[in-house]
Amino acid sequence: MIKTPILLNSAEAEIIRVLKKKHVISRTDILDFSGWSKAKVSQEVRSILDKGYLVEVEDGVSQGGRKPRMMRFNANLGYVVGIDLGATSVEVALADAVGTIVQRVAEPADVHQPAEEVFGRCTELILGLLDLQGCQIDQVLGIGVGVPGPVDFSRGVLVAPPLMPDWENFPIRSFFKKTFPTAFVVVDNDVNLMALGESRYGEALGVDHFLFVKIGTGIGGGIFSNGKIHRGNNGCAGDIGHICVDKNGPICRCGNRGCLEAMAAGPAIIQAGLQAVQNGESELLQQMIESNEGVLTPEMISSACREGDEAALRIIRASGQMIGDVLASLVNFFNPSHIFIGGGISNFGNHLLVAIRRAVLRRSLPLATTHLQINFSRIGSDVGIYGVLALVLDYLFVDEEKPFLSV
Ligand SMILES: [Zn+2]
Repeated sequence: MIKTPILLNSAEAEIIRVLKKKHVISRTDILDFSGWSKAKVSQEVRSILDKGYLVEVEDGVSQGGRKPRMMRFNANLGYVVGIDLGATSVEVALADAVGTIVQRVAEPADVHQPAEEVFGRCTELILGLLDLQGCQIDQVLGIGVGVPGPVDFSRGVLVAPPLMPDWENFPIRSFFKKTFPTAFVVVDNDVNLMALGESRYGEALGVDHFLFVKIGTGIGGGIFSNGKIHRGNNGCAGDIGHICVDKNGPICRCGNRGCLEAMAAGPAIIQAGLQAVQNGESELLQQMIESNEGVLTPEMISSACREGDEAALRIIRASGQMIGDVLASLVNFFNPSHIFIGGGISNFGNHLLVAIRRAVLRRSLPLATTHLQINFSRIGSDVGIYGVLALVLDYLFVDEEKPFLSV
């Protein structure tokens, strides 16, 4: 059994770094990027193959001489687990050591329940996936946990999470290590992980400066700066949902008034829809509510928009404008090249996107918006689970000269 994180010497770390980008690699590739002598390349390759981190695969394409022998990660090293926990749902995925998902499961969740219960259920889901895959607990090398709240990344705990205040400082790492003692555990904020997923598997591949904005029950932001997630001093960088939009606005769940989230996220949109029905402004929404036992959902407002319902359009445009106004300040401050939008209500489609773009362009400095692109994430709802798996894989192989995680 392999001890994790897998500590690499600097030569091995360099090989793995290149391999993560290229997926397969030859001795000639290593010779090219490392500048090492042929003898050193062959010694390092022998050592890393002996340790079982890499395996040789089919021959590559000949450049005139003998076909080069290619190498890739040893997919049988073990498995990693990603948990993407949202306010109302959870997804758990089991992937091999190169990140290919082999089993996954999703179900409703409620973060208003105690942390022990919710993470206990996650543990059961992981055990179920291991069973399906026919593998053992000690084959789990690492577990990544994405949670909907601010995370102190170095300690792996939530700090003052407005959604689930009782979860503050809950020891997520030691909780999972009780059942999975051989696995390391990393914890991060869900939107940071969406940004990471977008950067590895989406249109942000190769983009150095971008914002990822999640709009759902709440509103959050992930900041990707200089090719890395920017978490800030305490881990709450990007918490844009609690920027004040109207100091006389409604009380937010954080206790302050008029936060962006309280004014423009899912619950505020529903509230505005109910108000419109009460004021007799939308027959369509009224019919929809009546045929759904008096309940209005974001999907219903979204479909009313598609039908051209004036009240629904006004609500979505107002929400988009408030989000866009806040993003305009962030664009001036941070100067990203892209903004990606994801989360539950991003499927309001073009009306929301157009309103956000218009507000950003109107209020940002011209230089900051010259090449700015604002789009929905094309990965869709998988972006969080891809992100959390990418994080685990980043910590699976660690350069022993630059340790950055104590587990
Ligand atoms: Zn707030």
